[in-house]
Amino acid sequence: MKIKSKIDIRALSSKELESFFLDIGEPLYRVKQVEKWLWQKGISSFDQMKNISKFTRKILEENFVINNIKVEYHQKSKDGTIKNSIRLFDGLKIESVLIPTENRITACISSQVGCSLDCKFCATSRLKRLRNLNPDEIFDQVLLINMQAKKYYNKSLTNIVFMGMGEPLMNYNNVVKAINKISAVDGLGISLKKITLSTSGIPKMIKKLADDKVKFQLAVSLHSARQSIREKIMPFTVNFPLNELKDSLEYWYSKTKKRVTYEYIIWKDINDKDEDIKSLVEFCSYIPSKVNFIEYNNIGSDDFLSVSYNKILSYQDALKRANITSTIRKSRGEDISAACGQLANNISRNSKY
Ligand code: SAH
Repeated sequence: MKIKSKIDIRALSSKELESFFLDIGEPLYRVKQVEKWLWQKGISSFDQMKNISKFTRKILEENFVINNIKVEYHQKSKDGTIKNSIRLFDGLKIESVLIPTENRITACISSQVGCSLDCKFCATSRLKRLRNLNPDEIFDQVLLINMQAKKYYNKSLTNIVFMGMGEPLMNYNNVVKAINKISAVDGLGISLKKITLSTSGIPKMIKKLADDKVKFQLAVSLHSARQSIREKIMPFTVNFPLNELKDSLEYWYSKTKKRVTYEYIIWKDINDKDEDIKSLVEFCSYIPSKVNFIEYNNIGSDDFLSVSYNKILSYQDALKRANITSTIRKSRGEDISAACGQLANNISRNSKY
């Protein structure tokens, strides 16, 4: 006899769970009870469902599994950033980061195991994309970091950024499903205004976000507004050129009326010339936007060198003259390789790859 593998109960919609309970003759209010255990308490076994009878728990156990993520270990940076090394049910690993600042606690979430893109300055691109994360695996990272925020900082999570491993728009459905659950009242109830999806810029999928009228924030990792340069540092953009990115962003704005944030790192001798600044100013004029300069976090490549702080300020001045807002994001958690672009499952240690 072939043994059917059990599915994760969290892959079921409320409707599907309802019909399961109807089939086994249970009242419908069980759905809400079970969902609360699954999505708010983050339990990892059916036995923990205290208000569900032993008999029903056994039926659930016979039919489903709960594949939640497991923190293998976490490291704390001297600036308070916490990096979690997470094991998935099939043995693969990802990382997620808690970043505390004065007024916020931000969760930096992964969307894929590894990444299929080839940004030369990002450590995650050295890992092959092994698979997409399921909605519940994305959700679990937020739940985990919310619990850590309470435990270590006595505060709730305030912001979520999809800036961990992977390209969220290459895992569109699961990311959107997870965000729906994260923001739902019967999930974590986190406002969509506080959730930012960061993409390297996949035009077709940006248009889809606009068509789906999503209410979360969009950030695009631009890094250069010159096609010839962008192609060198992000080779996959040969297939997703800037003119298509521009079209998709104009479409996004026409449908959502939401401003976009461009993430931008300035490197010595790569994008630090006047022409680079001019191109960025022009790109920013297409739709309402803001620029977030990110400090470069070293990933051990001689090809990429940070510029002086003054250089960032001169970029900022040029934007200001064109009435474009910009901010500078300080690097966090660099001492434990938890900063942007450094998530690589500690390649040298404990690695499966
Ligand atoms: N694939 C998505 C999300 C993951 S990367 C994206 O590209 O947006 C999250 C952010 O970290 C992006 O803005 C990315 O460009 C930036 N990043 C990558 N490597 C970095 C590095 N070494 N130093 C600083 N930021 C980096």
